[in-house]
Amino acid sequence: MTALSARPLLSSPASIMKLLLIEDDLQAAEYLGKSLKDSGYDLEHAADGREGLRCAGKRGFDLIIADRGLPYIDGLTIIQTLRKQGDLTPVLILSALGTVDDRVRGLRAGGDDYLTKPFAFSELLARIEALLRRGTSSGGEVTKLKVADLEMDLLARQVTRAGADIELTTKEFQLLEYFMRRPGQILTRTMLLEGVWDLHFDPQTNVIDVHMSRLRGAIDKGADKPLIHTVRGAGYVLREAS
Ligand code: CA
Repeated sequence: MTALSARPLLSSPASIMKLLLIEDDLQAAEYLGKSLKDSGYDLEHAADGREGLRCAGKRGFDLIIADRGLPYIDGLTIIQTLRKQGDLTPVLILSALGTVDDRVRGLRAGGDDYLTKPFAFSELLARIEALLRRGTSSGGEVTKLKVADLEMDLLARQVTRAGADIELTTKEFQLLEYFMRRPGQILTRTMLLEGVWDLHFDPQTNVIDVHMSRLRGAIDKGADKPLIHTVRGAGYVLREAS
């Protein structure tokens, strides 16, 4: 907890944008990584598709830059997988394939923008800025979240699993929304306390255990496959497989 002043904490004052670069061309990755860091971005690099998908699921990136041709899992499959999990992180596709068909395929897979190699770094930077602007100004436009057969309508404040209504209290709804916006990501107690209860210290109560247990009862009771999993010593994760 920081005690800077009596001013209420802003959600993310002048936060540094986190980018994930999935690129197997190490020379290109090094150049882009350095240039993006110099431009003030926090950057993580994944050198193949498998690592890229793992990284993307691990923590909240503001933007993903994905090369299309990658070892193990190609860029378009990564995007499709993320979108299927309800992850709407903007993705900028980089590719040597630049025909109209290629671009259309990339955007249809769920990509937000498409840049053909070779490109000028200044153009990449401008496109990143445009995507991030779009993301921050219209981030609230998502009105429905879906993970497997669990669906949440944010406007109607309604939750269903396999089409059946689930009754939740306001807090349980907020907690579930926090999970559904981060499918596949391990959420620690600290993250939940900060993100759902807005507590920036550990209240030393079992508030999380109590709510998680109620939420599990509501979501997973009687279902074939549980969606909420405990990760021993780490936290909880919402995902299809265990
Ligand atoms: Ca490549």
